[in-house]
Amino acid sequence: MPLFHSWLNPALEVRCNSKGCRGVYAKDFLPARERLAIWGGHVMHLADEPVFSGGRGDFAAQIEERFVLGPKHESELEDTDFFNHSCSPNAGFKGQVFLVAMRDIKSDEEITFDYGMVLNLPEGQPYRIECYCGSPNCRGIVTGNDWKLPELQKRYDGWFQWYLQEKIDQLKNNAE
Ligand SMILES: [Zn+2]
Repeated sequence: MPLFHSWLNPALEVRCNSKGCRGVYAKDFLPARERLAIWGGHVMHLADEPVFSGGRGDFAAQIEERFVLGPKHESELEDTDFFNHSCSPNAGFKGQVFLVAMRDIKSDEEITFDYGMVLNLPEGQPYRIECYCGSPNCRGIVTGNDWKLPELQKRYDGWFQWYLQEKIDQLKNNAE
C-alpha cells in the first residue's frame, strides 16, 4: 500500500493472511523510543469520520475532542492505518501524530497500541469492541472512554495522545 500522507518506519510492514491485511509487524529489532510511524491525513470533525464498507470500521485517529486525522476514502488507506489494539501494547503516542516504541521490540512482534490512549468519544456515540488480545491486562471490552480508568492513566502516563495527556495532567494538578 502506498503511503500518501504518513511515514512508516522501514523496519515495519503490514502482514496479510487469507482474511486480508491486518496488523503491522516488526521486520527487525527496534529499540525503545524508536519512532514507528508518523500519521498524516485529513483533519475532520469527529462526526464526519467515514466508516468504510465491509465492516472495516473507522481508521482515523482522534487527535482532540472534536477532531480526527485520517483517510476520507477507502482508497486512501495506508499501511499506518493497520495498527491493532492490545491491552498490553508495545507502542504509545508522543504528541498527536508520532507512534513510538514504549520498550524494545523484537523481530516479528506485532506493533500495537491501546485504543484507550486515543479515544474520548462524546456521550451518545457508543463505541465498544471486544478484545481477545489474551494479555493478563486484557479488559475484554474497549470503550470510547477508557482513558478515564485510573489504572490506565497510571500505566500509560506520558504515552497518551497529547490532548488526553493534557486532560490527565490537569486532573492530577487539580487533585494536588
Ligand atoms: Zn485485550
